[in-house]
Amino acid sequence: MYGRQKIKFLLSQLEAAGRRSTPQRHAVCQALVEHGGHPTVADVFERVRAIFPMISQATVYNTIDTLQELGLIQQLDIANHEHTHYDLDLRPHINIVCTRCGIITDLYTESLHILLTQVSQHSSYRIDPHSSLLVYGLCPACQRVTEWDRVD
Ligand SMILES: [Zn+2]
Ligand SMILES: [Zn+2]
Repeated sequence: MYGRQKIKFLLSQLEAAGRRSTPQRHAVCQALVEHGGHPTVADVFERVRAIFPMISQATVYNTIDTLQELGLIQQLDIANHEHTHYDLDLRPHINIVCTRCGIITDLYTESLHILLTQVSQHSSYRIDPHSSLLVYGLCPACQRVTEWDRVD
């Protein structure tokens, strides 16, 4: 689900949970979807403020909070990142975080599905179908930079 369809879906889910659809909530959902990737509240606030200069950060925060409570977006707490990121993609995937520049890259691999199935089998847990993994490393660009550092 992408773009307009996804925005509509998020709003309809908010409405189903008793949060009526307001232009502000629409703008928050739109900003989330259009940002894509793993935005923070500040990223979303910045985009929404371009449309609603008077909107408060609390409105943005509350809408994001509700979406998370409803399981429509996922909270990503990344070590050494001051702010919480949100993941809009609920398909199981691996979030790879660069420990140097902070970029977050998504990796979709069938191996994760196999791993989660094994986890379930070995632990007797019923695994959350939206389970994602967080992995840390150095992105290719930062690897090059750190190599140059070594040469100097
Ligand atoms: Zn990097
Ligand atoms: Zn992700």
